[in-house]
Amino acid sequence: MQYPPRLGFGTWQAPPTVVQKAVETALRTGYRYIDCAHVYENENEVGQAFEAVFNDPSSGIKREDVWITSKLWNTYHRPEKVKEQCLKTLKDLKLKYLDLFLIHWPLPFAFRSGTDLFPRDENKNILLDNVSLQDTWRAMEKLVDEGLVKHIGVSNYTVPLIVDILSYCRIKPLVNQIEVHPWLPNDATIKFCLEKGIGITAYSPMGGSYEGRMLISEDETVSEIARKKGISPQQVVLAWHLKKWDSPMYNIIPKSSTPSRVVENFECLKVDLTDEEMKAINGITKHMRMCSPIIFWGIPLFD
Ligand code: NAP
Repeated sequence: MQYPPRLGFGTWQAPPTVVQKAVETALRTGYRYIDCAHVYENENEVGQAFEAVFNDPSSGIKREDVWITSKLWNTYHRPEKVKEQCLKTLKDLKLKYLDLFLIHWPLPFAFRSGTDLFPRDENKNILLDNVSLQDTWRAMEKLVDEGLVKHIGVSNYTVPLIVDILSYCRIKPLVNQIEVHPWLPNDATIKFCLEKGIGITAYSPMGGSYEGRMLISEDETVSEIARKKGISPQQVVLAWHLKKWDSPMYNIIPKSSTPSRVVENFECLKVDLTDEEMKAINGITKHMRMCSPIIFWGIPLFD
């Protein structure tokens, strides 16, 4: 089974005006895996980067050299809507196929219009839809049959949901994309998925950002190791992932809209942490989740 490359590139919160340059920089730097999503509202501009690079013979990069993932948004869980969003994503990204298409969240939201991605009632509660994850998965499987996507997977699935999908799937999820960083190591879920042959994509691998601040870079342990090695705290954290889960089934998708950081983060592949450094970073865990559906939508998926 082929999994995505170990180091990928994220595009969430990359404004449409800058994402094209960021993705082009990523591809020309050596990243061969780009993580996208309909809800990031920048797939059209990401697609412009793909077009620019794949149509430029001097880049030496062809479509088939790059792993491209996108995701089904919560308002498109109804089986008849699954293909509609997949086709929209393909059109925006200017692609004939996706390498991987994920159910973004195990949370079906009501569809009201193509632009209302977070439907709420008059009391500001998110409007859920009554469509089962099994029905959505069946429609995802059809996309593979039709050749629109090579693989399908899930994101933000808890262990009980993984157990459930394994009971009914015809095509097993290739990966579960979940939040992982030193402050939220998620060891039990990762181990469970890997044992079941489901790969892991670690999102917010550097701890993400909160109100514009990168919190993990302010951690003393990480900063001290970075200072000693003469590298950035972000490179330390990314190298920690790759050493801790040294498997082709585990990959990371750091994001930056800043070209110099895009290049800097790629250099994590050259960083080797000592056992003592790994132990020290393993010790900073504090169960701090950056992507919290209870904060976003008042839905206690994890807590
Ligand atoms: P992240 O990659 O851990 O962190 C991104 C933040 O770090 C941005 O604010 C970025 O700022 C900053 N940054 C990046 N490199 C840096 C460096 N070298 N020095 C200082 N700051 C740096 O967090 P993320 O974007 O939340 O997660 C990564 C990707 O995972 C997303 O882009 C998305 O593709 C995916 N994701 C998926 C889900 C899901 O539900 N499946 C949820 C969250 C994320 P600048 O951009 O300003 O440089």
